[in-house]
Amino acid sequence: MEIRAAVLFEGSAPLRVETVTLDPPRAGEVLVRVAAAGVCHSDVRLADGDLGDGRWPTILGHEGAGVVEEVGSGVAGLAPGDPVAFCFVPPCRACPACAAGRFNLCEVAGANAWAGTMLDGTTRLHLADGRDIRHFNFVSCFAERCVMPAASAVPIPPEVPLWQAALLGCAVVTGFGAVRNAARVALGESVCVIGCGGIGQQIVAAARMAGAGRIVAVDRDAEKLALALARGATDAVDASVSDARAAVLELVPGGVDHALEAVGSPATIRLAWDVIRPGATAVVVGIAPRGAEARVPALELLSEKALRGSYYGSGNATVEIARLGRLLADGRLEVADAVSHLTDLDGIEEAFGRLRRGSGARTVAVIDAAIAGAPDRLGSGAAVAQTG
Ligand SMILES: [Zn+2]
Ligand SMILES: [Zn+2]
Repeated sequence: MEIRAAVLFEGSAPLRVETVTLDPPRAGEVLVRVAAAGVCHSDVRLADGDLGDGRWPTILGHEGAGVVEEVGSGVAGLAPGDPVAFCFVPPCRACPACAAGRFNLCEVAGANAWAGTMLDGTTRLHLADGRDIRHFNFVSCFAERCVMPAASAVPIPPEVPLWQAALLGCAVVTGFGAVRNAARVALGESVCVIGCGGIGQQIVAAARMAGAGRIVAVDRDAEKLALALARGATDAVDASVSDARAAVLELVPGGVDHALEAVGSPATIRLAWDVIRPGATAVVVGIAPRGAEARVPALELLSEKALRGSYYGSGNATVEIARLGRLLADGRLEVADAVSHLTDLDGIEEAFGRLRRGSGARTVAVIDAAIAGAPDRLGSGAAVAQTG
């Protein structure tokens, strides 16, 4: 079928909305009508060439939700009409990582994600001239339709508005998983969240739900800090006007129990290291550009500080996306307030610009207004605007 999609033709080039060809789902795959897609910093990282050359043409978008339209042979548990949120690491359940229960590190999914293909090593997307288009982590939802492995389509309760469900499969599961599975924040512990964009806002909310004591939000954007305070942060540090390290250590003398970094830059990774107490672990969630190196004073390893990464929530994303979807349906999880902008397929490039400038929280692109359930305008608030 022919679909409209935002295509990245080469690194650092603007997205172009084009008509492309999408093949039907093969065995073990599903065709999904896309309702809405979140615009994430990882999309910008790839668009800017920070994750390596030669991954284009590609269709970005790895966070979204939609409705199943067709299932390939051998697909169980999904049927046309099912609302789903997208999971960009469909675990194979057979490789050494999956066998060890580390589904987010699935080796088969990882290899094909880097190659930009489906799990069989081929692509379902093609340009009008016949050239193959690479998939982005099996999802490629900056498009009207996508074909994805069945494990990437996670059923969610029908009462969840799809424009909100769009956030479950990256920002929400990554942020909540980083707090629960990687940092393992315990009741009353102090947490510093560095970077309060799409994922940082979910880390703040997850820390609050985990019963954290002090939650110190650090960012360079006053609106994002205001939103973090509204979502449960107890303190805000504006790194554009103050020495963030000194400010955090003044708020929590001796250092915080957990620092979670959601920027992906050497300076903020170092900040996360600098603000934790002896014996604590700094968790890096942000994706750094290829080639960047994080440095820490080696002598401080004597204090048993540690630095670790957290990828895609460090857990079983398909199970956790479904559980988070249930919480959202029950009104026990709030994500709408973390959406600062609504746009459409043509407005994604503009959303990339906001991410590059570090302004605004999450942009959601409403791809199909008939099923997304999005409001005409977002509610009033300092961090809220409307574009597109
Ligand atoms: Zn993402
Ligand atoms: Zn696997």
